[in-house]
Amino acid sequence: MRIGHGYDVHRLVPGRRCIIGGVDIPHEAGLEGHSDADVLTHAVMDALLGALALGDIGAHFPDTDARFAGADSIALLRQISALMRARGWKLSNLDATVLAQAPRIAPYISAMRENLARAIGCGEERISVKATTEEGLGFTGQKQGIAAHCVCLIEEI
Ligand code: MG
Repeated sequence: MRIGHGYDVHRLVPGRRCIIGGVDIPHEAGLEGHSDADVLTHAVMDALLGALALGDIGAHFPDTDARFAGADSIALLRQISALMRARGWKLSNLDATVLAQAPRIAPYISAMRENLARAIGCGEERISVKATTEEGLGFTGQKQGIAAHCVCLIEEI
């Protein structure tokens, strides 16, 4: 077995969609980035790549590459999952936390788990998504951005 950790942050700005865990959440601001800026899915991919010791998503999907402009991060996660299987590993479980003052994440957690599980090709019981505010403190508390952490365990097939 191997463990991995991922962390990501995206700035909240007007005029962008707010896509988290593959769910397009109605909100007054959205996440800025080269891809769809899905902060949770990025943390998940970095955790998987970390467990595989295969670098990070910036190395696999460079933000200088026009092919990844507006990219669907769930589709990128499918690619990382295929890479994991090709290397002889499968997900045992992952546990992720989204740090956001707004929007409220709770109503969308089950849809996020479903999206992540489908992209990874595993059961939803292996996918945990949690959310917290930071009590108005720091950049997430001030609604300047949203952060996500993820840890995962992978096992040899
Ligand atoms: Mg990112």
